[in-house]
Amino acid sequence: MTEKESAILVSDKKYLNYPSGAKLAGRDPQEELKELANTAEIETADYITFDLSHPTANLFIGKGQAEKLRELCIKKNVGLIIFDRELSPTQQRNLEEIMQVKVMDRTQLILDIFAKHAKSKEGELQVELARMNYILTRLTGKGIELSRLGGGIGTRGPGEMQLEYDRRRIREHITRLKKKLDKISLHRELKRQKRKENAVPMIVLVGYTNSGKTTLINKLSSSNFEHGDKLFLTLDSVMRKIDLGNNQKAVLVDTVGFIKGLPHQLIESFKSTLEEVNYADILVHIIDSSSVDIKGNYKIVTDILKELDVSDKPIVTALNKEDIIDAGTKRDLKRLFPEGVFISAAKGTNVENLKLKLSQALKSKREMAKFSIPFDKMNIVSIIHEQGKIIKKEFTEAGIKITAEIPIALSKKLKRYKIKK
Ligand code: GDP
Ligand code: MG
Repeated sequence: MTEKESAILVSDKKYLNYPSGAKLAGRDPQEELKELANTAEIETADYITFDLSHPTANLFIGKGQAEKLRELCIKKNVGLIIFDRELSPTQQRNLEEIMQVKVMDRTQLILDIFAKHAKSKEGELQVELARMNYILTRLTGKGIELSRLGGGIGTRGPGEMQLEYDRRRIREHITRLKKKLDKISLHRELKRQKRKENAVPMIVLVGYTNSGKTTLINKLSSSNFEHGDKLFLTLDSVMRKIDLGNNQKAVLVDTVGFIKGLPHQLIESFKSTLEEVNYADILVHIIDSSSVDIKGNYKIVTDILKELDVSDKPIVTALNKEDIIDAGTKRDLKRLFPEGVFISAAKGTNVENLKLKLSQALKSKREMAKFSIPFDKMNIVSIIHEQGKIIKKEFTEAGIKITAEIPIALSKKLKRYKIKK
């Protein structure tokens, strides 16, 4: 392995101006860029904040700021600058020329991370799609490639033809990628259908990136996925079967991180991953209680949920990381989320309570029923056993009489074995 690349991060000064000026516990939004960089295996050599409220078309930052940044690059001997903003191709190229280092914007950084962490075929295709869309928007920009290719004389110089050609090729590639993704999506739909037949309810974890979704799924299912300070480790939906107690089984689904300023191209291409949300019986919204921008993060998640048109689904709110917040914060959160359950996914605190809440929320999807199962249909007994809670079991001449609390969907399927008493 080569040494970690290091970079100077540039963000907007206004993020610093918290109204209260109070010392805030936990992570602040600035930390997020550092974490993003870290996830992309880039070390933060230094951090600089500028007033970025008046970006210039050529350079994004002002002359004085550029000079300061250049000096910092030399002093720290770094070859990379990352902006916490989206740069136009012109701005990026001009900055690179002046600074004599590589310049990246937030979108590129996120694309880079997505590319590094995609594990499944679907994830890879989605990243590729996002990348192509990103390149396409840049090519459509102001035709920067023109000057690079030495064209631009007349209206249809060689550069412009090249540009047209590139655009067409990229569009064709995008079409191919979409087709491949459609196929995978169909495959997933079939699996989902199968699960529906089995009537195992689906619980989907949503929440701002780094809120603790993967940690919680690990805790609840005692499995061991990668999780950690790196953002976006969950690129592909991960599913695990869990037992909520009383033999109430559910499928838990982890989702891709929701993050502010997610490039539009990424949202589009990752929608299919978020599709799982549509099939959820319950959503668990996990909140990082230690974040200083809880409201902002909350809004980003709920906005995406709205966009997915699932706001009517039952949502259980879990206030995670309660182990590192103070009493005041806890009080505020209680006011904001009266129905929320405080947990520590990492420590396992109160996780049982959350399970109880989930099981209660699922109760409405279950019913008590009696069945008489003939002896030659013993597989049905095991299905009931698998998905329900058997209250009473009696052997009769006709077969086995079972009283059980089972998912309504399953109960409907077993209608012809149902008995009155
Ligand atoms: P995800 O992006 O929502 O999947 O978040 P992760 O599960 O990857 O967790 C992000 C970070 O928060 C990791 O460093 C976890 O160790 C940490 N974390 C998760 N849950 C807790 C918790 O209950 N308490 C504390 N202190 N840290 C937590
Ligand atoms: Mg995760």
